[in-house]
Amino acid sequence: MSSSSTPNRRSFLAGGAAIAAVPALATVAGGAFAEAAAADDTLPDYAPIPPSALGPAVNAQGYFVGRLEKNLYWVTDGTYQAAFLTTKDGVVLFDAPPTIGGNLQRAIDQIASANGVSNKVTHIVYSHHHADHLGASSLFGRDVVRVGHTETKRLLARDNDPTRPVPDETFETRRTLRVGGERIDLAWHGTNHTPDNIYIHLPKHDTLILVDINLPGWVPFAGFNINEDVPGSIAAPAKALTYPWKHYIGGHMGRTGTRQDMVVYQQYVADLVDGVKKALVAVDPTPFFTKYGNNTWAAVKTYQDAQVDYAAAPVIKKYTGVLAAADVYTASTAFLILESVRLDSGVGSQVHP
Ligand SMILES: [Zn+2]
Repeated sequence: MSSSSTPNRRSFLAGGAAIAAVPALATVAGGAFAEAAAADDTLPDYAPIPPSALGPAVNAQGYFVGRLEKNLYWVTDGTYQAAFLTTKDGVVLFDAPPTIGGNLQRAIDQIASANGVSNKVTHIVYSHHHADHLGASSLFGRDVVRVGHTETKRLLARDNDPTRPVPDETFETRRTLRVGGERIDLAWHGTNHTPDNIYIHLPKHDTLILVDINLPGWVPFAGFNINEDVPGSIAAPAKALTYPWKHYIGGHMGRTGTRQDMVVYQQYVADLVDGVKKALVAVDPTPFFTKYGNNTWAAVKTYQDAQVDYAAAPVIKKYTGVLAAADVYTASTAFLILESVRLDSGVGSQVHP
């Protein structure tokens, strides 16, 4: 292998578990590795993706930009999403995913020149501190007002990542941002995906931006989207639905969401919660503890694997063809929900007599 292709190969391998690597992987898989990947029949087969999960095709530069409502636009690379608002005083950008990176300004330039408005980003609103949504923030330099939650500032100060400058302006519970006569309502309604994940509502644009909660058309990424607060994340869709909106930006995958997408996602999670509660009662632990004796972890692992299968199997069946990749990640999410139902809700806890 030539030295020029080595870094690609290395990042391909190192990023194997990271959703951030997906666009890079897609590029690689379409090139030199396509034949090898197609020939590997040891890899598992999964159900086809429902066409409803997919969004518009990206252009030759690797992005799609579209209008949500009036002067509010969204950008995607097929896996990540950002949004921006053009105003008479400049552009407000919502998140800066590194996978979209330089295409953020390209998308803004494209729209600004078509409409004869400023292409200068004056504000960046941070949804939450995660690098996969903010890692292109530093591309916009120092002369930009970054706005985020106080906890986002604290976490970014901790992470000390030069690609994600800390917010210049912060808020605790609510903040209305007014730029160029436009209105953006920011709110923190408790922890969910992360302690700092906020609701970004544009009432005049019928849009809610709430990142890493619902990925329209798809089941959550591994482990319930790596949500740090499982009960808080389960509660988030209902909070999102209390706002009036027509367009939803979830930060992920190739299309925007509708209220119906939020309802389907909410039901998917509710079905998993029901399933794990049933599994806690229905799955008999005896055979696992009998077989593994004093290897407690072996008994616990196989017992919980059986509970996860019990909970996930009907949900996978129900949502295959409805939400993409139900057969890929539902079991992984069921495990996180099982642990939360046990540890947060206390279901199945038994007190020694
Ligand atoms: Zn995140």
